[in-house]
Amino acid sequence: QSCLARIEATDTRVNAFITITGDEALKAAAAADQQIAAGNIHSLTGVPLALKDIFVTKGIRTTCASKMLDNYIPPYDSTSWLKLKDCGAVMLGKLNQDEFAMGSSCENSAYGPTRNPWNSECIPGGSSGGSAAAVAAQQAIATLGTDTGGSIRQPASHCGCVGLKPTYGRVSRYGVIAYASSLDQVGPVTRDVTDAAIMLGTVAGHDPLDSTSVAMPVPDYTRSLLSDVKGMKIALPKEYFIDGLDPDVQKAMDAAIETYRKLGAEIVEITLPHTDYAVACYYLIATAEASSNLARYEGVRFGHRAAEAKNLLEMFMKSRAEGFGAEVKRRIMLGTYALSSGYYDAYYLKAQKVRTLIMQDFLKAFEGVDVILTPVAPTPAFKIGEKTSDPLQMYLSDIFTIPVNLAGTCGISVPAGISQSGLPIGLQLIGRPFGEETIIRAAYAFE
Ligand code: GLN
Repeated sequence: QSCLARIEATDTRVNAFITITGDEALKAAAAADQQIAAGNIHSLTGVPLALKDIFVTKGIRTTCASKMLDNYIPPYDSTSWLKLKDCGAVMLGKLNQDEFAMGSSCENSAYGPTRNPWNSECIPGGSSGGSAAAVAAQQAIATLGTDTGGSIRQPASHCGCVGLKPTYGRVSRYGVIAYASSLDQVGPVTRDVTDAAIMLGTVAGHDPLDSTSVAMPVPDYTRSLLSDVKGMKIALPKEYFIDGLDPDVQKAMDAAIETYRKLGAEIVEITLPHTDYAVACYYLIATAEASSNLARYEGVRFGHRAAEAKNLLEMFMKSRAEGFGAEVKRRIMLGTYALSSGYYDAYYLKAQKVRTLIMQDFLKAFEGVDVILTPVAPTPAFKIGEKTSDPLQMYLSDIFTIPVNLAGTCGISVPAGISQSGLPIGLQLIGRPFGEETIIRAAYAFE
């Protein structure tokens, strides 16, 4: 009830929710009370959560912030939500995002932008902007987002939350609307590292319905909540600490490094030499996969169907022209071009090779260190509208998070201070593949 009241009081301004499921939430809360009375208690029993609108939810409208799916009521649940529901978690509703998770500011939504609760003139980050804003505005205790190139970590950073992108394959993608399938990964946005550990432990694990989920045992991540980083080797990649980094961000990083030193960690410098190519490589691979994944929206099986088409081809074309927003169309065109015969070798195949080099940079670095420390974003949250006319500028917002997805490894964003203008700044801790326990430990010691 208190979360619903908070949503009622704040969401006309924040616009974190696309769909609010208040009645269902109160029913689920009553059922959780009974579950607790019967002594059947999990850490998440009765805890009010909300999900990015990219997770399909049985019987509950799932739009992915697109007009294309405005009327889509899924007949099944995503595995992540099923696992949370099985623990007795309560869903408050579905959260705003960039359309099909394409964006860095939550401005590419068919349902209007989400506003940063710290300053409503600013973006909350994206694409999981609603997931971070809802936690920051205390509308939900914790939320789930997805991260293809930074979409959990970057909004968490801009809203002063914790955001964890697990290793590719750690969490099932079943029932997560696909953007770029080789990069997409599910993860929590929370108030603190403890909640992130609990949420991750609940959703992680092998799923027979997602062949890319990995059959490795799920550790009890809450056992990594130790304030101890003595002897931990923390690396600073020189390519990430460049001139031109926002001075407030630089200051927050310097202070964080000092904190780790005091806690007994060993700080070393490393190089990740292919960093410069990450953004270009990402925007070829992500758009190529998106162009293929989004081919399913043709107005026949589900989603928007144009009203007055004369024949089938025109129906496909009109439905897509009307249903998709500008950024989604831009990505489909870029990706189709990169995959087309004659250009495939020069763009897509080349990008795959560069991706391998970036992955190898990380694996090599992790032979000698435990954690890599970087900023999450080059600047604190920018103003709504500031970058919408310049897509390339917008794409650079994810320069520090994108390499982690290309490498398939894990990263966490933790609050690390406030800028002069009063906006949160996040610190990124990157771990080796399936090294979530180590980054949780390092994040917990810092927080
Ligand atoms: N901003 C990046 C993009 O637009 C990353 C988004 C994401 O992680 N989903 O593709």
